[in-house]
Amino acid sequence: MQNTLDIKVAKTTASRLQETDFNNLPFGHIFSDHMFVADYADGEWKNFQIMPYGDLSLSPAIASLHYGQTFFEGLKAYSHPDGKIVVFRPEKNAERFNLSAQRMCMPELPVEIFLESIAALVNIDRNWIPKAAHHSLYIRPYMFATDPYLGVAPSKTYKYIILTCPVGAYFSKPLKVKIETKYSRASEGGFGFAKAGGNYGGSLFPAQEALKEGFDQIIWTDGREHAFVEELGAANVMFVIDGKLVTPSTRDTILKGVTRDSVLTLARKWGVPVEERRVSVTEVIEGLKSGRLTEAFGAGTAATIAPIASIGYEGQLYTLPDQSQAEFSNKVLKTLNDIRYGYGPDEMGWNYVIS
Ligand SMILES: *Cc1c(COP(=O)(O)O)cnc(C)c1O
Repeated sequence: MQNTLDIKVAKTTASRLQETDFNNLPFGHIFSDHMFVADYADGEWKNFQIMPYGDLSLSPAIASLHYGQTFFEGLKAYSHPDGKIVVFRPEKNAERFNLSAQRMCMPELPVEIFLESIAALVNIDRNWIPKAAHHSLYIRPYMFATDPYLGVAPSKTYKYIILTCPVGAYFSKPLKVKIETKYSRASEGGFGFAKAGGNYGGSLFPAQEALKEGFDQIIWTDGREHAFVEELGAANVMFVIDGKLVTPSTRDTILKGVTRDSVLTLARKWGVPVEERRVSVTEVIEGLKSGRLTEAFGAGTAATIAPIASIGYEGQLYTLPDQSQAEFSNKVLKTLNDIRYGYGPDEMGWNYVIS
């Protein structure tokens, strides 16, 4: 790709690559050598820099710390056997970055800046992309308000930063999940569709409660009645019912996942019937009882395709058939992996080639 962004590059003189154990990569703990940083002030993005990963110096009064004017993205880079470096569908993340920005009263970032900043950073730290199966370089672009001002008002200055982390598999086993009937992560008219920090801060307590009850994750339901399924933790949720792929339709309480879109696109291409609509808790529970619901899984960049082993609801635990034999989710995971890791054809043109 053509780089037109004027980026000031300061490379590290003390790479941590050699001392990093690529056989032990707990998600989000290990950062590669460099980060990208840009500033927004006077109505424009400027000071594009790549510098060694390290601490920032900021005023303790910055608006993002007090009122949550902050949001992020998550995507991944892969290293192909032929030496190519690709990022999976970053244009979709650029689009969503700006949806989040709008909702949080923050400045949009031109798509070219989003793509070029990621390309430049990943290229510099290309040796940090793990090569093992199910491994990748997780890319975390984010933006936050930096005005040192305690009034509740949109900040006039912001930072846009990208960090990258070599990562392995996010979940190691099929999940035991709980259908949440007390708490909600998003409400109608709220900002659940944005990848805004507050959505995740508010989800921690319910998740911790579920963990205490022995569950791995929460299936969120609508905030009004807890009658309709919305998401699985920080991933979209999908079911196979009567051989059809069924998933909640997106709305302002549901994040429009890139993985979700990719799975639906592949299903339609294969002629699998797809239903994007409201999915009631009753339908899921009835499907589990009758055996018509044969697969359930989460879909997200971090989690990829995360099969669900059992679902708890109102004190009952319903077990799914062995998901290691699940036809659709296994096929879709294999196809996505073949595209991402360069083992199969990329018919949809989803890989954004960096070099
Ligand atoms: C990030 C995220 C997803 C998954 O989106 P992808 O683009 O597939 O990574 C789904 N739900 C929530 C709440 C998320 O934060």
